[in-house]
Amino acid sequence: MMANKRVSRVREALLERNLDGLFIASPINRRYLTGFTGSAGYVLITAEKAYLLTDFRYMTQAPQQAAGFEIVEEHRQDTLDIIKGLLEAANVKRLGFENELMSYSMYGKYEASLKPVELIPASGLVEEIRMFKDDEELAVMKEAADLADRTFMHMLEVIKPGMSELEGALELEFFMRRNGASAASFDTIFASGERSALPHGTASSKLLGSGELLTMDFGALYKGYCSDITRTVMVGTPNDKQREIYNIVLEAQLHTIEQLRPGMTGREADALARDVITRYGYGEQFGHSTGHGLGMEVHEAPNLSKVSDTVLQPGMVVTVEPGIYIPGFGGVRIEDDVVVTETGVRRLTESTKDLIIL
Ligand code: ZN
Ligand code: ZN
Repeated sequence: MMANKRVSRVREALLERNLDGLFIASPINRRYLTGFTGSAGYVLITAEKAYLLTDFRYMTQAPQQAAGFEIVEEHRQDTLDIIKGLLEAANVKRLGFENELMSYSMYGKYEASLKPVELIPASGLVEEIRMFKDDEELAVMKEAADLADRTFMHMLEVIKPGMSELEGALELEFFMRRNGASAASFDTIFASGERSALPHGTASSKLLGSGELLTMDFGALYKGYCSDITRTVMVGTPNDKQREIYNIVLEAQLHTIEQLRPGMTGREADALARDVITRYGYGEQFGHSTGHGLGMEVHEAPNLSKVSDTVLQPGMVVTVEPGIYIPGFGGVRIEDDVVVTETGVRRLTESTKDLIIL
């Protein structure tokens, strides 16, 4: 019973925060806790009970997916009354809610309707639990990463000078969808030549030219989990400068993966890559963090950044993605997904990082 183990973790966190219950409106947290994939609903967890509130469209699906949850049918106009009744029955006085998600007007409505229940900000409670991936999640994430690897291999066969970035990005996404992805996990970055200096250069109508760096950053959303990979390749023969920055980014990326350990903070992990790039004089051209957590969302906790105090622990999945971006020239980024183990990390994405010349 996967859902129940996650619910127990929520209950432990509720105890620590002196809360009697947790109200969840986030679609991703709802799916994580219940297994329910429908597009609407709320989760209410108390010391004794776990409810999934959803509407009539899901009265067959919800009980099948949300093992261990009591399914309550709601109709939008009576949602608050139903919640109020459930809270009273469970004697909830302090209810945690996702303050970073709820709009000001929604908060006003809930606050007034649920009185005397006190609404306590609890954003991040489920996200902290989600940082630790169980074996089932890791198996799905490995499949999502394998799909990204296969997509990269496929792209190596189709990329040629004269193709537009948009055409390339479309082919890439089409391949992922045809091979099991429900969507791209984010807007595909497909940026060539000078545009490769844009860390978030989504595909344009520009044609791939010979002698250009091409950065592809993409991922598959697969069974609810994301992969996220970046490879930079050469279209045509590289010049010395292109080769130089490629090798520096590669050294930084390999060094980080080699040295990452549980017990390090996000800041220490960030410095592994940053120090290498800075040593070669390109620190200013590496303007983003070294990596981010990955899971049901493409960006989640923990971050590998200059400001992260989170301690890395086994079961966390993060990206390692140093880059160098030189305006007017181009850029290189190399990104893998890794899972933190007892002794270091294990790669999920396994595509080659040798400089590929197409
Ligand atoms: Zn990426
Ligand atoms: Zn990333």
